[in-house]
Amino acid sequence: MSTVIIRKASYDYKTLRPVVFEILDSTCGHRVREKERVIIKPNLLAAAPPERAIITHPMIIKAAVEYVLEKGAVPQISDSPAVGSFHEVLKKGGIKDALAGLNVIFKEFSESVLIDVGEPFKKIEIAADAVCGDVLINLAKLKTHAQMTLTLGVKNLFGCIVGMKKPEWHFRTGVDREKFAALLVKNFQAIKPAATIIDGILAMEGQGPGRSGTPRELNVIIGSRDTVAADIVVCRMIGAEPDTLLTNRIAGEAGLCDGEIIVDGAPPAVGDFRLPEIAPLVFGPKRLQGYFRRHLVQRPVSDESLCRLCGECWKYCPAKAISPVKKKIRFDYDKCIRCFCCAEVCPHGALRTHETLTGKVARRVLKMR
Ligand code: SF4
Ligand code: SF4
Repeated sequence: MSTVIIRKASYDYKTLRPVVFEILDSTCGHRVREKERVIIKPNLLAAAPPERAIITHPMIIKAAVEYVLEKGAVPQISDSPAVGSFHEVLKKGGIKDALAGLNVIFKEFSESVLIDVGEPFKKIEIAADAVCGDVLINLAKLKTHAQMTLTLGVKNLFGCIVGMKKPEWHFRTGVDREKFAALLVKNFQAIKPAATIIDGILAMEGQGPGRSGTPRELNVIIGSRDTVAADIVVCRMIGAEPDTLLTNRIAGEAGLCDGEIIVDGAPPAVGDFRLPEIAPLVFGPKRLQGYFRRHLVQRPVSDESLCRLCGECWKYCPAKAISPVKKKIRFDYDKCIRCFCCAEVCPHGALRTHETLTGKVARRVLKMR
């Protein structure tokens, strides 16, 4: 049985600091030792100001850094952003300013080690600092995710897969969301964070996790030694069935969390939290599935008035399904695996997911969700 701590909180540093200290004390305090290095892994998806709710708030990162320093250990902030440079994310996200004067190491994940996670993936490359360090503190953001429904504690650790290896794994798992969720769980098992804190003070709902999502104040912070238990408690809090998040279901099947959780604190009542609409990517009679996928299933679309042809989406697309044609971007839906990484990395919020009316009707006729 695991314990999940849940506290009402705001980004006011005076009141936030003791909350983060309390959570870290009761989760990983005994493991943070003098002179040892502690990796702090926030969600640093992209260079965005804190009010967009795309990255972990700098005040939470600051509190974790100060906690580690008070223990006499050495804090290191690391991640591998999907778009933009690590230092640009730190700067634009307000993290550099928030941590000014503190003795902290900033180090982008760069070198990987091969970790054998077993079937079906066998060896996966994970940032050496994430698996070889003494202790890792996982500072996730509570956000929706157009492909995986939500990005919480387990998913945040996908950032420990370095650079363009991330889209490669998206491509290898293809349109199979369950397979991708299984990869996320294997990655989490290999990293074994000592503690997970989920920043739900300013969360994101709608078509997250990038600029197409909508910030929403929930004023809550969640923490646990058990990452899956923390993810389950968040799902219950926002009114979602925990198994809606495939990583919860797969972790449960693997015996990583039995769902029996002690909740220390009162989750706030969260009404009408908007999850992204997620349609199945494979449906219908087998011989028609290819046709349906090409023409009917949910797909990325662009808003030409917002697109600045910056190229981030086509550089990142794992399937090489995007190209600029006559000053517009074009999608090759035959190639597209619907990972929605393009929407995630677009710095201008010009991409969103869309399902055609014919697709919706076909799905209902075939009695899919
Ligand atoms: S859709 Fe976004 S990421 Fe792609 S080229 Fe346009 S602005 Fe850049
Ligand atoms: S076009 Fe977008 S959704 Fe399709 S494969 Fe490329 S990044 Fe993924």
